[in-house]
Amino acid sequence: MSFDIKTHIRAIHDYPKPGIVFRDITPLLADGVAFQQTIMQLAERYRPLQLTRVVGIEARGFIFGTALAYALGVGFVPLRKPGKLPGSTLEQRYQLEYGEDALQMHDDALTADDRVIIIDDLLATGGTVLAAVDLVRQTQAELLECAFVISLTDLPGPSRLQRAKIPYYTLCEF
Ligand code: 5GP
Repeated sequence: MSFDIKTHIRAIHDYPKPGIVFRDITPLLADGVAFQQTIMQLAERYRPLQLTRVVGIEARGFIFGTALAYALGVGFVPLRKPGKLPGSTLEQRYQLEYGEDALQMHDDALTADDRVIIIDDLLATGGTVLAAVDLVRQTQAELLECAFVISLTDLPGPSRLQRAKIPYYTLCEF
């Protein structure tokens, strides 16, 4: 494909703290053709896999995940930060650099009949997506792959997923 997704991702230096280069996806979202190409590329990969649901991680995973689910004509399942979902939930905690966080999912969102992928905008240390994988594994659903728009290859996420034998797909790397 001639479309170069990386040209639509902006580096913001020293955000959220000094020394960090934040990869900002908002220029990609602001460009209708680039956003459409991004979703089309994901849809081409996942259309043959007969998914039943796309599972998206709050918050930027919702942007790509809902668009992809719509393109595939399948349902979307949000994984949310604690206290946001109104019904009964499953929960998975995970470590942050300082402290811990958690992801929750409605306990009836997935069943043994579901074939899913998990999607987020970016893979960094892998802590968030590994929690999402553990959350999905609390159900009987079949997890086919994790998908990212961006992977940061100098951080441990890619190798942690490889070590855990969790297949993943990324549209670009920095
Ligand atoms: P990890 O848990 O892999 O360390 O971090 C990934 C999570 O943090 C994702 O949910 C992602 O949205 C967010 N994140 C961390 N760094 C960045 C970044 O540089 N750019 C963007 N867009 N998201 C980031």
